[in-house]
Amino acid sequence: MPVFFEFLLIALLIFLWESVLWLPKQGMALRRSQFGNSWRAIPATRFLAIRELGAIPLMPLPANTRLFPCSGFPLAVDAAGAIHIESPSGIFLKTGAKSWNDIRFSTPHLHVGDLSTRCQSPRTVETLRECKKAGLSPAEAIRRAWELSLSPPRAKREVKRWTITVNPLALYCPALCLGFFAGLPAAYLTLGPISAVWLGAWLWCLMLAISLQLFAISKDILPSTRSAIRQDALLSLVVPFHAMRAAEIAAVHAFAGTHPAAILLSHGATENPWLGQFVRSLRYPRPTHPGDIALAETALGPLENSLARFALGTDRYLTAPDRSEDPEATAWCPRCHGMFLDGVAACRDCGGLSLEKF
Ligand SMILES: [Zn+2]
Repeated sequence: MPVFFEFLLIALLIFLWESVLWLPKQGMALRRSQFGNSWRAIPATRFLAIRELGAIPLMPLPANTRLFPCSGFPLAVDAAGAIHIESPSGIFLKTGAKSWNDIRFSTPHLHVGDLSTRCQSPRTVETLRECKKAGLSPAEAIRRAWELSLSPPRAKREVKRWTITVNPLALYCPALCLGFFAGLPAAYLTLGPISAVWLGAWLWCLMLAISLQLFAISKDILPSTRSAIRQDALLSLVVPFHAMRAAEIAAVHAFAGTHPAAILLSHGATENPWLGQFVRSLRYPRPTHPGDIALAETALGPLENSLARFALGTDRYLTAPDRSEDPEATAWCPRCHGMFLDGVAACRDCGGLSLEKF
């Protein structure tokens, strides 16, 4: 095989590797449709998962400026003040942590008492640090972090700031892909190797422009994650498609303190099915999972405040599921919306939660 085509093959392999965003298993991303205001929730484990991480595939064409990796805050407090931490399976587990001395962040893990969770960005724990400085207790700080992460005006500001900064990449990244996979072979086959080398040099200038853009992102909007993004900006100079993933990694930092529900509400997507599911999971915690109850105690109040801005309450999402496909069903689970025949009283998947009658 001529050296040129070996080079293209290597470029393709790098492209495939860089077209994946790795998130903690319990994480998720929202993808907004290219046109209109339709949002899809993508759990990190939907396509591929390894020990602590799940892979979300990216699309370079069109560039991924509409993908928002955000998972909410990984800690919750129950009524007795005990701290719970989110595990890779998304379940909140009780920790033995009592004071600030038991909480420690060392990239990429947040350690609380004897348990830890994967936590991609130092921005996730920024609120904890600020509250600690202000003299608040860990429990008060966790409640404050949930209030901030579920605030629609704050989410709107974050999205706006991010969109303005990342928009130039929507042009650069597709140009880079087209240049490598269409431009280079065309130039090589029609005009000869020298033209392909010139086009390659031009594409490197494009990589330089992307790298500078990433430097700008690190400087302008994310002071606490500056060094991580700068490393990616440097890598973007030598690895052709690293810029695409670097932009996504920067998005992980940009939305590290924002809950998906706040992003949906800030865009008026109040009818999103995932939002309904989230509300139901807080209103109907599984009785067998103390972590569910802690999460509901921490997050339900802030969520109700956020919904009240839109003259909505959580009751709005507790309506019965559509049983037109399953007319025999006589009862439904208020948490998972599973439907049941006569004679069943509780949903086994939801820890024995009592069913509602149609
Ligand atoms: Zn259920």
